[in-house]
Amino acid sequence: MAGFRQLLRNTPQGLYCPPGGFHIDPVGPVDRCVITHGHSDHAHSGHGAVLATPETLAIMAARYGEGFAAGAEAARYGEKISRGDVAVRLVPAGHVLGSAQVVLTWKGITAVISGDYKRRSDPTCPAFEPVPCNLFVSEATFGLPVFHFPQASDEVAKLLHSVALFPERTHLVGAYALGKAQRLITLLRQAGFEKPIYVHGALDSMNALYQAHGVALGTLWPATDKDRNALPGEIVIAPPSAIADKWARRFADPIPAFASGWMMVRARARQRHVELPLVVSDHADWDELTMTVGELKPEEFWITHGNEDALLRWAELNNVAATALEIAGYEDEEE
Ligand SMILES: [Zn+2]
Ligand SMILES: [Zn+2]
Repeated sequence: MAGFRQLLRNTPQGLYCPPGGFHIDPVGPVDRCVITHGHSDHAHSGHGAVLATPETLAIMAARYGEGFAAGAEAARYGEKISRGDVAVRLVPAGHVLGSAQVVLTWKGITAVISGDYKRRSDPTCPAFEPVPCNLFVSEATFGLPVFHFPQASDEVAKLLHSVALFPERTHLVGAYALGKAQRLITLLRQAGFEKPIYVHGALDSMNALYQAHGVALGTLWPATDKDRNALPGEIVIAPPSAIADKWARRFADPIPAFASGWMMVRARARQRHVELPLVVSDHADWDELTMTVGELKPEEFWITHGNEDALLRWAELNNVAATALEIAGYEDEEE
């Protein structure tokens, strides 16, 4: 059997597939690449040719303009594409709209590059599809045993409870523009919250893109219309940078909240002056990471970015050969 490192290797630009002649989520401009999802640390503009899901291409066009790459090719989930003698297939990663794992088959080897992923249910994108493989390349943003996330529905219940308790105050929830904001809105709708949700203008284009792809968000109103008052008792969703900003002072005695996996870390919540931390993550926690490796049973397990050390130790104890690739440049925009 040919070696894994002939199929996939780590370069200064990130993962590269020599027999296929393309990078995966390169950290700088390259000739040919496959992009797993639209978060800005994984999807840069200025590449020659990009292969991605139609949703990811739409997200890149919305963020960078139609000329985000010299050429773009869409591959729907499950479609087989050939690159040299490598077969490429994108399958759902369950992270954000359009997010994909990259499945490579070459000379009897199956390699899966997860991109960012989670295993929990998310009504805004199809669920992670486990693909048994010889080589599994995983993110590990929350790769520490302390990261055991609660149910997202419980966190949203906490928010609604606080809204009921403080009807004279505005609940100002920080959530990243791509993925987290739409998931949070959908979770609120599933919890029976039918009133308009007020949104910061920076979320408009991604909200519209999700709606155009069939994700129902209910009634959304601009948070800062000229006729709007201080919005007591309402929920306002804004980019995290806005909740501690001058922008936030217009609201009625606002309660700053923040939806992120990092809200498990008290110091991070304090740092951001968050009164109501909501632990809602679009990444796999420790249990999901180890469950996934256990389920896929790869011969080798490579870690691209995040917390590696505990996972390396876990892999050793479970007889999986593991390597930390230490690719610089993934910034974890969405959390
Ligand atoms: Zn991401
Ligand atoms: Zn990432």
